[in-house]
Amino acid sequence: MSGTLIANTPIAVDFWRIQKKRHARLFFLSHMHSDHTAGLTSTWRHRIYCSPVTGKILHHQLQVKKSLICSLELAVGHKIDLDELGLQTMTVTLIDANHCPGSVMFLFEGYFGTILHTGDFRYHPSMLQHPPLNNTRIDVLYLDNTNFSPNKKLPSREEATKQIKDIIKEHPEHDVVFGLYKIGKEKLMVELAKEFKSRIVVSPQKLELLNLLELEDVFEAGGGAGRISVVQESDVNRLNMNHWNQAHPTIAILPTSRPAKEWHKNYDVHVVPYSDHSSYQELQEFLNILKPCSLEPIVKHQMCEVLLKDYAQPLKKPLLEIKVPPSVQVFMMGLGCPERYGQGKAAKRQVVQAARQIPKGVVFEALEEHAHASKDLRGELQSVLNSCAAGSLCHTEDCTNRPLSYGPKKNDGKKGRYSILPRKCVPWRHIKKL
Ligand SMILES: [Zn+2]
Ligand SMILES: [Zn+2]
Repeated sequence: MSGTLIANTPIAVDFWRIQKKRHARLFFLSHMHSDHTAGLTSTWRHRIYCSPVTGKILHHQLQVKKSLICSLELAVGHKIDLDELGLQTMTVTLIDANHCPGSVMFLFEGYFGTILHTGDFRYHPSMLQHPPLNNTRIDVLYLDNTNFSPNKKLPSREEATKQIKDIIKEHPEHDVVFGLYKIGKEKLMVELAKEFKSRIVVSPQKLELLNLLELEDVFEAGGGAGRISVVQESDVNRLNMNHWNQAHPTIAILPTSRPAKEWHKNYDVHVVPYSDHSSYQELQEFLNILKPCSLEPIVKHQMCEVLLKDYAQPLKKPLLEIKVPPSVQVFMMGLGCPERYGQGKAAKRQVVQAARQIPKGVVFEALEEHAHASKDLRGELQSVLNSCAAGSLCHTEDCTNRPLSYGPKKNDGKKGRYSILPRKCVPWRHIKKL
């Protein structure tokens, strides 16, 4: 998983390698698993939108500055500017993804239609029974398709928990070591602590992290506290199994949907398909109810894309065109962005000069309503953007997909109108040049 850049928008989800994709401007983090934070370090300089729990873990684990972390409450719509001037906004709603602590799905609503990015998620019917996802038309669905394979049978988490309990009961004299990722499966561990009346032994670093999550008090650092302990998944190996068994009879449990390895059997390592990703059947149900207009699998592999294409024949009319308001294009080019152009007269000249390169043929709403934009810059940009209204729509040389309505649009007095740029017309050439 290498993150998603949502086409024709400044939105990036779990995507942190921006050197070559400089048009990404708004950064969203779905959860703190390492495959979703690759490239994110303490030197990060842009604002990050995430859930409050993810925000806490992000600062603790990667030392990203608190001032850059924008924690958004779940289940309510948040308005976010899509340009420097506040001309265009979108609404984002965070929805519990039922995956690991702090994990969320993002529902984006704006000029691009309605986009749902699931991040990693385990489907539960309640997700589609309540707002904002009940009766919502989804134009584009970015789907966690990890387990989207008819051959992959997965039990519910409750059934998998029972399997785990049975294995522990069959080994009453053994210590039990769980191999886990840094975050995830905490609820399972709390349940096992209660069932077997044992403290859960973790490393001091893991305990610090768990304390942030304000879970029930069942975890403890240091040996001797209980027969169940947690280590990193990669630490469940042949060498350690030998070592642990020399001290005391020990079994290991790996709660994961990944297949068992050959050596596991010989070393009393039990792989139980406890998954924090939706099963194939759950994904089918999710798609059947949601009926997205188009689908983008997050995990790319050919087989899955074919299956999804077959399966999710859009039942609703898809959006044929995406309107990219020029002020958003200006934003995506980094114009007016102090990090790139700095402050002062020279910087402003550069901003205005660059803004002249945006495609022609647009009609803007009045900037006066957007009082929070700098008055000076607002005036200059307004005049440049207004002049666009007299020009043609798309002048990129390689554009072969001009809309039929090519040419200037008449202002019919309605605010917020802009010309239609079909997908292929987004002038990346201009962006690259800058
Ligand atoms: Zn994950
Ligand atoms: Zn993942």
